[in-house]
Amino acid sequence: MTATIETRQALTPPDSAERKMFVDGAWVDALSGETMETINPATGERLAVVPRGRREDIDLAVAAARRAFEGPWSRFKPADRQRLLLRIADLFEEHWDELSLSDTLDMGKPLTRARADKGRVAGMLRYYAGMATNLDGRTVDNSQPGEMFSYTRREPVGVVGAIIPWNAPIAASIWKIGPALATGCTIVLKPSEEAPLSPLLIAELMNRAGVPAGVVNVVTGSGTEAGAALAEHLDVDKIAFTGSTLTGQSILRASANNIKRVSLELGGKSPLIVCADADLDTAVPTVALAAFANSGQICIAGSRLLVDRSIHDEFVERLAAYASALKVGPGVDPDTEIGPLVSKRQLDKVVGFLDAGVEEGATVRAGGARIERGELAAGNFVAPTVFGDASDSMSIVREEIFGPVISALPFDSLDEAVKRANATPYGLAGGVFTRDVGTAHQLAARIRAGSVWVNTYHALDPAVPFGGFKMSGFGKEGGSEHLDEYLATKTVWVKLD
Ligand code: NDP
Repeated sequence: MTATIETRQALTPPDSAERKMFVDGAWVDALSGETMETINPATGERLAVVPRGRREDIDLAVAAARRAFEGPWSRFKPADRQRLLLRIADLFEEHWDELSLSDTLDMGKPLTRARADKGRVAGMLRYYAGMATNLDGRTVDNSQPGEMFSYTRREPVGVVGAIIPWNAPIAASIWKIGPALATGCTIVLKPSEEAPLSPLLIAELMNRAGVPAGVVNVVTGSGTEAGAALAEHLDVDKIAFTGSTLTGQSILRASANNIKRVSLELGGKSPLIVCADADLDTAVPTVALAAFANSGQICIAGSRLLVDRSIHDEFVERLAAYASALKVGPGVDPDTEIGPLVSKRQLDKVVGFLDAGVEEGATVRAGGARIERGELAAGNFVAPTVFGDASDSMSIVREEIFGPVISALPFDSLDEAVKRANATPYGLAGGVFTRDVGTAHQLAARIRAGSVWVNTYHALDPAVPFGGFKMSGFGKEGGSEHLDEYLATKTVWVKLD
């Protein structure tokens, strides 16, 4: 049956009561029969229950992925994998309304924003489709020309374990599944228990597109059970992880078991440097977007605002006014700009930081509290918050909050700004706002982070590498570097005489 005919059938609605997980091409319950709930963060109501996969379920999924890797999938030629990825991209576009609604209901993202990601996600899949037929090795001149011929082949690393967080379930799934399919790997994906529904819909689409059994498996379950079992598994060749630095450290330790390849996309505490000559009309909304998009639940969220002292007060005043005007509400409301936090646990964590900021001496210039009026009282809503009078030693300035909170810090020289921007164990991203092209490039070079944006923020593209320095992890997603993470280089020597 062709994809065109199949796509007339809608995907399983995200709020259907009981979901199964996808292992070896089949929809299954956990072997234990246990389930766990997923909650709508805008209402506090139960959305669905999913299987609580554990170690034994991970074992089955990894075994299926190994069989597929060594069996039918190994016979797929690069052009076959390319066709498959293009078909998947088409299916994603056709079902984007269902996918984006699923993210909105499960983790709170405003629907208008989720819908706007359609082209970006389909573009990622098509980028990987293009890469599938561009995996070349090279011939290497050695010191015995005429006697020995040497060349490299780039081969899939094998079975990939992918562990993703809840803040961007669709994009995070595709950042892992896309390169796996392009390179000929197979994959076991463990979504976050906070937002497992979109990855299950993605499994449905993979199945409809004709991905062979065992090539893409999605096991729902908790991090400490299913996630840890995947990270420790002796038959997994690589772990691709996105999540907190703390969990990244335990993934790295677990990888020692069988010397797995590991790529880690971890947390951040990204600095934004606003120079005295910045265009404030564009810098204010861009800084607000950097801090508050996805309710600040983005690893690259700009949360430390270093502003030249000469414009500091004006900038903070304008930013606070902008933040206060943002419309907070349920993601399904088309006017909503800022949705809820993903969970009650995340809400408590963010409110704890708000309280700590005030206790440590910062002043609230905008927001500063949970929103509990009317229908928002049932959800996990926090007002976009701007702190003034902050200092580098405060917890709100040092620690990753993962909520809609930014702290303003005046500086007196660019050298000082750079030093303070880099005074963090993280190194994921940073932003620079200036009209001077020389200053822009100099600051971009001096900020110790994997991505620096100048007079913009959040720009991402499948062709452009993304990934952190320092305790924000290693390994790139995006660009040809991304494919390298899923490939192993083999050298072949041939004696010619
Ligand atoms: P966590 O590290 O808690 O969770 C991430 C994933 O790891 C989830 O699937 C989780 O499962 C799982 N997990 C938890 N414990 C273990 C374990 N011991 N072994 C294996 N897997 C485990 O992060 P959050 O979900 O709180 O996500 C937020 C963090 O992710 C932030 O720090 C953020 O900066 C980072 N992040 C980084 C990005 C990047 O590209 N650099 C992008 C997005 C987020 P479960 O949720 O079911 O417990």
